[in-house]
Amino acid sequence: LTTFTDEARIALDTLSGRATGLFSPSLRLGVTGLSRAGKTVFISALVHNLIHGGRLPLFEAQKSGRIARAFLEQQPDDAVPRFQYEDHIAALVNDRAWPDSTRAISELRLTIEYESASGWSRMFSSGKLSVDIVDYPGEWLLDLPLLGKSFADFSREAFEMAVLPVREDLSQAWRTLSAQIDPNADADEMSARRLAESFAAYLKACKLDERALSTLPPGRFLMPGDLEGSPALTFAPLAGLGDRRPRPGSLHAMMDRRYEAYKTHVVKPFFREHITRLDRQIVLIDAMQALNAGPGAMADLERAVTEILSCFRPGRGSFLTDLFSRRIDRILVAATKADHLHHESHDRLQAIVRRLADRAVARANFTGADVDVVAMAAMRATREGTVKQGRETLPVIIGTPIAGEKINGETFDGKTETAIFPGDLPENIDAVFDISGPDHKQDSVDPAIRFVRFRPPKLERTAEGVTLSLPHIRLDRALQFLIGDHLA
Ligand code: GDP
Repeated sequence: LTTFTDEARIALDTLSGRATGLFSPSLRLGVTGLSRAGKTVFISALVHNLIHGGRLPLFEAQKSGRIARAFLEQQPDDAVPRFQYEDHIAALVNDRAWPDSTRAISELRLTIEYESASGWSRMFSSGKLSVDIVDYPGEWLLDLPLLGKSFADFSREAFEMAVLPVREDLSQAWRTLSAQIDPNADADEMSARRLAESFAAYLKACKLDERALSTLPPGRFLMPGDLEGSPALTFAPLAGLGDRRPRPGSLHAMMDRRYEAYKTHVVKPFFREHITRLDRQIVLIDAMQALNAGPGAMADLERAVTEILSCFRPGRGSFLTDLFSRRIDRILVAATKADHLHHESHDRLQAIVRRLADRAVARANFTGADVDVVAMAAMRATREGTVKQGRETLPVIIGTPIAGEKINGETFDGKTETAIFPGDLPENIDAVFDISGPDHKQDSVDPAIRFVRFRPPKLERTAEGVTLSLPHIRLDRALQFLIGDHLA
């Protein structure tokens, strides 16, 4: 499946990567997750906390005072857009607004000057580490399994997924249109376009639906990046192909060819130029949204995490194995936005994510890398408190809900601080994953947590007008796992 040229090119990339590594030690950290999982906020908060000496007690190098300074430098890859750190921080800090989310790949180089903990290392290391942070949509990663699938496999699986109870109604229009089109008929651009548009509308509906379904490939149908409106995206799965070979000149042949072109010209280069060069990876997930939507959405999230993990560390015998030049040795699966829960629930959230990650690791035929999990908030938008209700004292979270957010019939104006009882996560983890259990589609079922979106927090300033560091939950634990050992 991979041609000799691919492999030769990757070998060269690796050699040159290693050569530069000799002069300035660098670590490539991939940050991914499906759209709105929290990538942009995570990178902005992480960089800000490092540059401005934020409170990071679980990040050992910082805690022991060994970090001399951290600063931004020019990134090594000129062809990749830069992560717009300054704009994002201005939105968060000055406007108390969330920044624009990730829509394509971007990169940022953060250099840390530090003192090694041991005298031995001090003699041999430069005391300087460049972390190249690579931000990219998780949707694009979900395309990678397509490399091992023919158009017939892709079509069959797409229809299988489309008739699952969680997606059946959302895929109805596309399936009805497909049923009217004969794959063996002559190729015709209008049919191809109508099918592609209808299929893309179904994929987008899955994403926007309150059931919080995770994503199905092709990922560029949802996050086109610079391919918006391009013919490379004008294809769709076809029904009832079986093992039949396409008749030359048929719609089937045309779709098959475009699907293969998508793999060759979009998926493969992305994988080769970016993913295979990563050393470490964090996968952000919006577990809270899935938990709220019920076990169907959790199962779906687990499937997405499984597919994502199988891209990074394919087991032996996978055709992907040979493509990797570097080896990702640590992966962190992180549930963000834990500030929507009271801290008493944070361990429970982490236990749920651990279960999800364990199951995904087991299913992904995945070997070799350390996988850890964390329940965190890259940017903490709430404080904690208690309110008395009758004789009971309830733990609450306090923050400023975004204008237009609603809870119990009340609509917020974006200016008023409010205390919200967020609810508890279920004690029984099995229930969270039990797809025979209730889904929260109907109003009659109480969602696990009451979820409103808050504005970023008001930051305290010192007497000199300096903004204090951005508050977070367990961001330091994430940092320690992702880069701590390189600063030992
Ligand atoms: P991306 O698509 O993965 O880049 O997602 P973003 O980083 O843009 O985050 C999407 C949205 O999630 C933001 O606009 C915020 O509303 C919310 N969000 C992300 N991180 C946090 C967090 O740490 N705490 C809270 N309360 N909300 C967050």
